[in-house]
Amino acid sequence: MSAQTPRVSLDRLVTNVAVDLMASSAATSKSVARGVLGMMVEYFDVDVSFLRYNDHSIRASVLVAEWPERPGVPDPDPLGTVYFADADPVFAQSEHGKKPLVFRPENQDYQRRIEEGRNVPQTSMAAAPLVSGDVTTGIIGFVKFGDREWRPEELNALEAIGSLFAQVQARVAAEERLRHLAEHDDLTGLYNRRALLDHLEKRLAPGSDGPVATLFFDLDRLKTINDYLGHTAGDWFIRVLADRLQQGTKRSSLIARLGGDEFVVVPAEPTSAADAEELATHLLGVLRERVAIDGEMLNRTVSIGVAVGTPGRDTTNELLRRADQAVMTAKAEGGNQVAMATDAMALESEFRNDIELHLQNVIENGALFLRYLPEVDMRTGRVLATEALVRWEHPTRGLLSPASFIAVAESINLAGELGRWVLRTACADFARWRSTVAGLDVELRVNVSPVQLVTSGFVETVAGILAEFDLPPGSVCVEITESVVVQDLETTTITLNGLRDAGVRVAIDDFGTGYSVFSHLKSLPVDVLKVDRSFVTDLGKSQDDLAIVRAIIALADAFGLQLVAEGVETEAAALTLLHHGCRRAQGFLLSQPLSSEDMLALLAQGRVSVHFPAEPEA
Ligand code: C2E
Ligand code: CA
Ligand code: CA
Repeated sequence: MSAQTPRVSLDRLVTNVAVDLMASSAATSKSVARGVLGMMVEYFDVDVSFLRYNDHSIRASVLVAEWPERPGVPDPDPLGTVYFADADPVFAQSEHGKKPLVFRPENQDYQRRIEEGRNVPQTSMAAAPLVSGDVTTGIIGFVKFGDREWRPEELNALEAIGSLFAQVQARVAAEERLRHLAEHDDLTGLYNRRALLDHLEKRLAPGSDGPVATLFFDLDRLKTINDYLGHTAGDWFIRVLADRLQQGTKRSSLIARLGGDEFVVVPAEPTSAADAEELATHLLGVLRERVAIDGEMLNRTVSIGVAVGTPGRDTTNELLRRADQAVMTAKAEGGNQVAMATDAMALESEFRNDIELHLQNVIENGALFLRYLPEVDMRTGRVLATEALVRWEHPTRGLLSPASFIAVAESINLAGELGRWVLRTACADFARWRSTVAGLDVELRVNVSPVQLVTSGFVETVAGILAEFDLPPGSVCVEITESVVVQDLETTTITLNGLRDAGVRVAIDDFGTGYSVFSHLKSLPVDVLKVDRSFVTDLGKSQDDLAIVRAIIALADAFGLQLVAEGVETEAAALTLLHHGCRRAQGFLLSQPLSSEDMLALLAQGRVSVHFPAEPEA
């Protein structure tokens, strides 16, 4: 460069610097600045250069970039943050100075500071301020070890370059403000959901350090504060908790508010499940401390769900969902506690989501079907009734039993629709059997979910379907579980009376397992008791079960109710039941659940084959 004519080269230098600086962004501004400084160090043939920004809020000058970088920077760096108040003239000038300055070796204070920072005795320097409007926002400086003269054109070039740096500084600051707004939550200043997702995305990328812990916080009963003390108090409460989270975690942790009362903390370093649980327990204690709102001391607690993800294996969504799942568990168990996400939880929630997704249109697409379980007189084998059992041929999971999807259907308000489908389909089959087999005298039993039973219009729906298929009153029986009857006695009594008026019979299913319905049996319009399978299976072996079954048999007798034993699997159980006077039963010993066609064939035949040793009537 020294071979070029100075004036042209200076113009060229400023142009090159402008091109480089204008292309820089928030992410690259420091490295671009270092490159530009390097180019200028070479051009001006000096030894050291630096870029410093003013932080007027603390009245200090802060080192941003330097070239070349000093080897072995002392800690604290005497050149890092320099307060104007106790600075030498160079730094003091940079607080408000608007013009380039040149310092020569005779300046003693300046020399002393440089000597401390660099161990170089004699230096000279030219510096140009960064000026934005009428504020001095920083300085660029060029140091020569030994003496150097600076020509006015050179100082003009420095001034121009200083203003280019000031423009970049302003642009980067604006960019950072925008990014801050986009990534932060207004109320608390914490990161927002978007920033959290970006962060987890990076942390879970293949090859990143793991495990990555995620702590999901949910305030217990925030709604109560909002309702009783107003939203301002609620907001204030959220801010207090945000502060406590910040104080209780390492600075490097990412803390995000997902909106409402949900917070997430992600420790910066790899964290095992055990360490994450320990941190969560610590934070539970920190957050539990009382908060003063409007002169009242409030005791609020949080629930914390903890999940740990493996980079390259877990996705952001999975990890958050598992943590969310765990927090639900913590809440369900009374709140104010930490719950760890478990594999079982993950599998269960995955299964649930999948069921939920497919169940929506399963009724239309014909994946549901019914099986029928005969109920027989064990003395004769005659078929007395048949129970409709729903099945679902799931597209990927195969044949599903109702136990796995009825509860999900209930939770997403599909129980009514599903129940109507079962009832209509069973009644349609039943009507067909009746028209095929002359003089058919069996009962159709249909299971009704608790949710269905308390749905308004249930009685009308059932009566409507019976009428549609022209089924005689008394030929259809709904089965309801014992627990639901007791839970809402008033509503169920009304519904059961309505069913009776419509000519529908009622059976209490799984009898003996739920809350005791004994005391209400007298007042309830019930026709049938079905002894739960758990008491029947081991009959012939278990004396306890026998005692219970005998009590139920006596009870049914006393109230004049029909009694059916479920789950007869062994001859010993069948014989014991017969011996104690229970003849009606269903179970795998008598028949497996049958398709509608097989059920029709069995009905035409009239009986299943039973060959128990002759047993005297009890
Ligand atoms: P549940 O009403 O007690 O039905 C009897 C269950 O016991 C049936 O299982 C049946 O296949 C099974 N079972 C019958 N005999 C034996 C036996 O000897 N040994 C054993 N181990 N099991 C036997 P499934 O079909 O899986 O039904 C499970 C439960 O799902 C039913 O219990 C019932 O509560 C519910 N459910 C079935 N269909 C429907 C329906 O259409 N709607 C509603 N809401 N619930 C239904
Ligand atoms: Ca049943
Ligand atoms: Ca049952």
